[in-house]
Amino acid sequence: MPKAAFTTLGCKVNQYETQRILESFEEAGFQVVPFSESADVYVINSCSVTSSAESKSRYTIRKATRNNPSAKVVVTGCAAQMSLNKAEAIEGADVVVPNPEKLRALDYLYRAFPEMANWVAAEPHAAPPVLVGRTRATLKVQDGCSVMCSYCSIPYTRPGLVSRPATDVLDEASRMADLGYRELILTGVLIGAYGPDSGSGGPDFETLVEQLARVEGIERIRISSIEMRQVTPRLIELIQSGLVVPHLHIPLQSGSSQVLRDMNRPYTKEDYLALCDRLYADIEPMSITADIMVGFPTEGPAEFADSLDVARRARYLKSHVFRFSPRHGTPADQWGDPVPDAEKQVRSLALAEVGRETAAAHRKRFLGQIHRVIVEGKTTSEGLLEGLTDNYLEVRFAGSPSLKRQVVWVRLDEDRDGYLLGEIETSGPRFEPRTRLLPVR
Ligand code: SF4
Repeated sequence: MPKAAFTTLGCKVNQYETQRILESFEEAGFQVVPFSESADVYVINSCSVTSSAESKSRYTIRKATRNNPSAKVVVTGCAAQMSLNKAEAIEGADVVVPNPEKLRALDYLYRAFPEMANWVAAEPHAAPPVLVGRTRATLKVQDGCSVMCSYCSIPYTRPGLVSRPATDVLDEASRMADLGYRELILTGVLIGAYGPDSGSGGPDFETLVEQLARVEGIERIRISSIEMRQVTPRLIELIQSGLVVPHLHIPLQSGSSQVLRDMNRPYTKEDYLALCDRLYADIEPMSITADIMVGFPTEGPAEFADSLDVARRARYLKSHVFRFSPRHGTPADQWGDPVPDAEKQVRSLALAEVGRETAAAHRKRFLGQIHRVIVEGKTTSEGLLEGLTDNYLEVRFAGSPSLKRQVVWVRLDEDRDGYLLGEIETSGPRFEPRTRLLPVR
C-alpha cells in the first residue's frame, strides 16, 4: 500500500486543511504514516506568516527528501502560494499546489505523476481508520481575509472571502459528533466575515454558531480566533447563554494606536481595552487570549510600552508573541526592518514575562470553584487526567482513564506552573452554562 505523510506549519486553518487533504489520500487508498517515517508521498502545508515560518517550511521540505530521497514532495499553503505569486521555484518540491486549490492536492499529484494513480488503483483499499482518541475537532467555516493589515501576506495568499455553505458545515459537524468529538473549534482566516455575501447560503456567523450548538453530541463550541471588530453584541449573548464557551482569542498585534494605524488595523488601544473590560464585566468566567507582534517598523520604545500596558490590562490567560519580519509585496515591506533582532528579543521576553504574570493571576481567580472539564486523556509525566475548562484553563486531576471524552466537574485547588491541579467533584455550586439553548430563530 503506498504511504503518505503529512505535516502542517502555521495556523489552525492550515491544520484543518491538512486533515481534509489527509482524508482524501486515505480514501484513495494511501496508508498515512508519521512524517518522520519513510513515505512515498510527503505533503507539506506551508506557512508564510513570518520569515521564520517560511524557513521552517523550507527545512521541512528538506527533511522529507532526507526521509526518502525518491519520495514525491507535494507543497501547498501560504509559503507555496507566495512562491507561485513570485514565479519562484521551491527547492525540493515536486508538485506545488496553489493555496485555494489545496484540497485537490491529490489531483495535482496524479496529474504530475500519472503512474502514481495507477499504482494506488492497483492496490487493495482498506477502509479509512476511524479517528479515535481526540475530544476536540477543528472545523473550518471560512477562508480569505479582506482586512489588508500592512504587514500581512495572507490577503495575497488567501484572496477573496469565502464562506462554506452552512449545510456542508452542519453535515461535517454531525459527522464529527458521530466520531465522538465533543468540542468543535471553529476556524477561519476572518471568521466574523462568515455570511451570505461570501457564500454561506443564508446564515450569518452568529446564526451558524447557534445551529452548530444544536448538533446532537457536541458539548462545546469554541472560536479559534476573532478580530475585535467582529465580537458583536449577539456573539456576547451567545457566550452568556452557554452556546459558545467563555473564551475568545482576540488578536491585539500592537497596544499602540499609532502602530495599529500603521498596521492598517481598524481599532485603537482604547477600543480594544473597552472590549476586554466589557467581556470581563458581562461574562463570568471569561478568559481572553491574544497574538501580539513585536518589532513593527514604527514601534519605538513608547509604542512598545503601550503593548506592555495593554497586555497587563487585558489580563490575558495566554498570549502568543511573535516578531515582525517584512513579507515580500506587503505595504510594510517598504519600511524595511529597522528594529534590531536583539531588541525584538528583549521586547518578546518582556511581553512573555507580563504574560506569565497575568496568566497566573487569571488562573488563581478561579481557585476553589468547580468547573466543567472535558477529559482529554492522561498526562504522560504524572499519570493524571488532563482537560480544559470551558474558559480554557488547563486542569489536571486524578481519575480513571475511562473518563476520556467525558464531561466531569472539577474543583480547582492549586495553581501550578501553567495549569491548575484539581479534584473531581460530584456536588457543590458549579459554573453551569446559563441556558443550554436559545429559542430557535
Ligand atoms: S486580519 Fe490582518 S493579520 Fe489577520 S489575516 Fe487578515 S490581513 Fe492578515
